[in-house]
Amino acid sequence: MSELSRAATDGAREVGAAIDPRQRAWVEVAPKAIEANAAALKSHLGATSDLMAVVKADGYGHGAITVARAALNGGATSLGVATLEEGIELRRAGLKAPMLLLGNLTQAEELRSCMHWGLMPTLSSMREALLCQNLAEGSGRRFAVQLKLDTGMSRLGCDWQEGPRLVEAIRQLENLELCGLYSHLACADNDHEDDDISVTAQQQRRFQEVLDQLPERGRGLCRHLANSAGTLLNRHLHHDMVRVGLALYGQAPAKHLDDVVPLQPALAVRARVTLIRNIPAGVGVSYGHRFVSQRPTRLAVVAIGYADGILRALSGKIHGLHGSQRLPQVGAITMDQVLLDATEAPSLETGSTVTLLGRDGDAEISPQDWSELCGSIPWEILCGFKQRLPRIEV
Ligand SMILES: *Cc1c(COP(=O)(O)O)cnc(C)c1O
Repeated sequence: MSELSRAATDGAREVGAAIDPRQRAWVEVAPKAIEANAAALKSHLGATSDLMAVVKADGYGHGAITVARAALNGGATSLGVATLEEGIELRRAGLKAPMLLLGNLTQAEELRSCMHWGLMPTLSSMREALLCQNLAEGSGRRFAVQLKLDTGMSRLGCDWQEGPRLVEAIRQLENLELCGLYSHLACADNDHEDDDISVTAQQQRRFQEVLDQLPERGRGLCRHLANSAGTLLNRHLHHDMVRVGLALYGQAPAKHLDDVVPLQPALAVRARVTLIRNIPAGVGVSYGHRFVSQRPTRLAVVAIGYADGILRALSGKIHGLHGSQRLPQVGAITMDQVLLDATEAPSLETGSTVTLLGRDGDAEISPQDWSELCGSIPWEILCGFKQRLPRIEV
């Protein structure tokens, strides 16, 4: 490397190190809120049920490592991830809690890696069980696994009627340790507690029917069924453990489950105003001129866009918060910028911070608000914030 290019590289590094992550747009994450939510959820469970913190998809966009640590501090005793990479990231960060891989691994290499890192795979069939047995036998180890039953989701898992037979067959495999038996609810966020013809009630009956056919009703296995909605819906769904994602992040999975456990949102999305413009009435704004000013308008250009996760489908429907004041977002949301009508907010200036999602003063915008405006769900909103937004712990 020449002197000149080395100087340039060093220079770039210096400048890079000086960049304030709050310069443009960022996600604020409150680990204390996650910890409090875990504690509140744990105290909602009976003494015989444990809390698994589901931290897949980078902790629903909050940062998996941050969230995992906070949830374990709050009383969670295990972690759920979707992919092998997610599990390895947490192990590399020094997290030692039991970890269940909720997705299905199909390749021997993936399962070997799973065993190596001490991650429990989810098995849906004998094929995977035998793969695991071969790997474990070959390395002279015992491999902890869990079996999943399909009780009505029609996604992963074996047919629930096959459950007792598969449990028995897996228990015959010398190098496998069957630690858990579980299923997943399909409709718990739509169902109501006292509705015994609901899909949830049927899934619960099927799950229980499998347990009833096992020696000692499956004692010794960790038996689990409930996601956030199931956890909040009905205590009978708790079994030995619940797997909670959305509620851990402070969001109830449905309006009628809002007040079951006090939850605190843990994430805010904020961005800076980079320019203030005054335009007369009758001027088109942003791509396609979907907005035309009806009066002389004070426009604020804010440095965040759909490439950060502000869905374009929300164009003209959302607000930015300035203190407790709600400023309408106008025109098409663009890749890197959005426009706010700041006519009523003369104190908003270049460099001011605007909140797109989360709390500012007395006002709050929730993932639920956004999802209702664009036909999505809060889960998708939360995991839609891109890597371009630095995560900052507050
Ligand atoms: C994602 C996931 C959960 C968590 O669901 P929430 O609705 O976010 O609580 C639980 N179990 C399984 C199998 C999952 O894939």
